[in-house]
Amino acid sequence: MERTCVGCGGKGDPAGLVRLAADAHGRLAVDAGRRLGGRGAWLHPGAACLARAQKRRAFGRALRMEGLAVDGAGLERLLTELGRRD
Ligand SMILES: [Zn+2]
Repeated sequence: MERTCVGCGGKGDPAGLVRLAADAHGRLAVDAGRRLGGRGAWLHPGAACLARAQKRRAFGRALRMEGLAVDGAGLERLLTELGRRD
């Protein structure tokens, strides 16, 4: 089943996208092992789609967490997590 990138809106196989979800602290995290429950957001693993998703406040919408804010530090952390992905 295809997933839609919350950054660019492009569709793709889940294998080519990463899942992001809220962790135990309510922070947006890369769900590499797909272990986090709840709603998730799918994203192409790159800075461009990450920035677009943040600009559009797409994560809060996708996760149904309107208050979910991803600040600059949060984006840096996510980018690092994306880079560590196998
Ligand atoms: Zn994308």
